[in-house]
Amino acid sequence: MPRLLLNSGDHLIEGPVAKRFLRKDPLVVLGLIVLVGGIALTIYGLIPTSEANYVQVASGPVPLTDATGTFIYSPDIYFRAHHNGTAPIDNVQCSPSINGYICYGFQFIGTKIVYSISSRDYGFGLMVLGVIGIYGGNRLAPLKPKLPHLRPITIRIDEDVCVANGVCIGLAPNVFQLKKQETPTIFAPMVYIVDPTGADNDTIIEAAVMCPTAAIIIEDAETGERIHPPYPEN
Ligand code: SF4
Repeated sequence: MPRLLLNSGDHLIEGPVAKRFLRKDPLVVLGLIVLVGGIALTIYGLIPTSEANYVQVASGPVPLTDATGTFIYSPDIYFRAHHNGTAPIDNVQCSPSINGYICYGFQFIGTKIVYSISSRDYGFGLMVLGVIGIYGGNRLAPLKPKLPHLRPITIRIDEDVCVANGVCIGLAPNVFQLKKQETPTIFAPMVYIVDPTGADNDTIIEAAVMCPTAAIIIEDAETGERIHPPYPEN
């Protein structure tokens, strides 16, 4: 259950920052997906894998046709067959050149540990994009109006209309209390706000609604919008 934001006068209590930054705005959601994808790709790029390690031992040209004039379809096999060096060739790679092919012979010498540099780099790039998306989504997307019971609220008592009948105290005694009177007076004691976080918003709003003189004024702490009592219609 996320903590609500309550504000009374200079008393402000803020809820978890994560709740604001993990809103379900499309850009924020997209940023989160991209961020998670980037993290996964980066982790994959940091996992070591082994692959065959070859050293080049020979190179040379392979013509387009052999001595009988037959076209050479497999220059790698031709090169291997006509290689006259001493080192065994385990792998041959050929590329076209002007009059045939240039081939390179390699010898297998074991395995080596490699990392997927491209995965790591792409993953890091996606993480940056994801963070930008989350930040941008929170900065650019308009805040959706929250239901009254989820909004940060301010509470005020209109002492000019409060008749001190204690209805609000009965509903939310941790929020509302009667002021103690030092000396006897003909005036009724006033209600004051002990702790704006002493009850949830629903209870506080209910107390305001039940107040017979509408002396409890509740407003949205962020927008200043009146939640209760409503302004009279013109
Ligand atoms: S319910 Fe309203 S009138 Fe009664 S004590 Fe509370 S604020 Fe005052």
